[in-house]
Amino acid sequence: MSAPSAAGRVVACPGCGKPASLEQANRWRPFCSERCRQTDLGAWASEAYRVAGKPDAGEGGQEGGSGEP
Ligand SMILES: [Zn+2]
Repeated sequence: MSAPSAAGRVVACPGCGKPASLEQANRWRPFCSERCRQTDLGAWASEAYRVAGKPDAGEGGQEGGSGEP
């Protein structure tokens, strides 16, 4: 079993799953395009920010009872 290295190395784009070339010609590798790269980075940053900017989750936990002004 040997990896077929015919037309360069191609992997599935982490962003959309489409074949993405790992050659230097593809500056967005391992993504297929800038769009996918940006999207992935955005999602990662968003998630990281969410975790980092987690609000204090120690409010007792009593919510949804009598909140009528
Ligand atoms: Zn893609």
